Amino acid sequence: YYMFVFNYSQQFDKCFSDKSISIGIVPTMGALHDGHLSLIKKALSENDKVLVTIFVNPTQFDDNLDLKSYPNELEKDLDKISQFGENISVFTPDKSDVYGDEIHAKQYDLKELDNIMEGKIRKGHFQGVATVVEYFLKTFSPTKAYFGEKDYQQLLIIKHLSKSLNLPTKIVGCPIVRATDGLAMSSRNLLLSPEERKIAPEVYTGLKLAVKLAKKEKYKKIQTEVRAFFQNLSLIKLEYFIATDPFTLVEFKPNETIKSGRGFIAASLGEIRLIDNINMS
Ligand code: AMP
Repeated sequence: YYMFVFNYSQQFDKCFSDKSISIGIVPTMGALHDGHLSLIKKALSENDKVLVTIFVNPTQFDDNLDLKSYPNELEKDLDKISQFGENISVFTPDKSDVYGDEIHAKQYDLKELDNIMEGKIRKGHFQGVATVVEYFLKTFSPTKAYFGEKDYQQLLIIKHLSKSLNLPTKIVGCPIVRATDGLAMSSRNLLLSPEERKIAPEVYTGLKLAVKLAKKEKYKKIQTEVRAFFQNLSLIKLEYFIATDPFTLVEFKPNETIKSGRGFIAASLGEIRLIDNINMS
């Protein structure tokens, strides 16, 4: 490859010794798809150099099976990234480089943002995310860091983290990239069976139904209707549909109307969990 691929954070200085350049970082867990590539493109358009990290972070998995089955496609990933030319580098650290000998998450006060939705179901997940993101931001001091709205709760938590740690990096949110049938792109989509993949876009249909209902109905009615929509579908099990304030993630009250909000769904198809969200204003 023309591009610089490195495994030890110390090697970074070789490539980025010029402190006057701007650096955009795009943290990923690999198995790259068009959602990841959209973040990389945006980062390249806004910075002199871009650093993509590929690291399946063990401390953000609450489920060992999920960690073990997480797709690994490093060679394909490097091919995809190398098409972007020479201003891009890839960091593929080993667990020990990030964590030393003890692989555990630090504990952060995430202001309750981590105790709802994904944080409620995936215990400790966001503490693991925060640990690895702090590591990347402190190690590389990038100008900007790019995260997808696909993981909207994660994006807000990282914005909070960066602010509370006084880190200089600007956190940039990027819109959700979808397959033509509406399914939000995700590395985990690779794990769906053909039947599951066929029905998976209904997650997005459920979110669009919520947006439509919000024009006339209160939150309670929207929830009832969205739940009923999923009850009528086979293969998909709705875990939650929740609508919140888009900045604080405070859930609406049953009798509230939703003028400015964000709708969130988590659903499982067999062993695979999918999440998606939508702007509800
Ligand atoms: P992951 O590899 O799943 O940890 O994702 C790495 C980054 O890509 C995260 O900031 C995600 O939010 C973002 N991302 C993943 N899927 C999408 C998507 N479909 N659209 C936009 N961003 C995405």
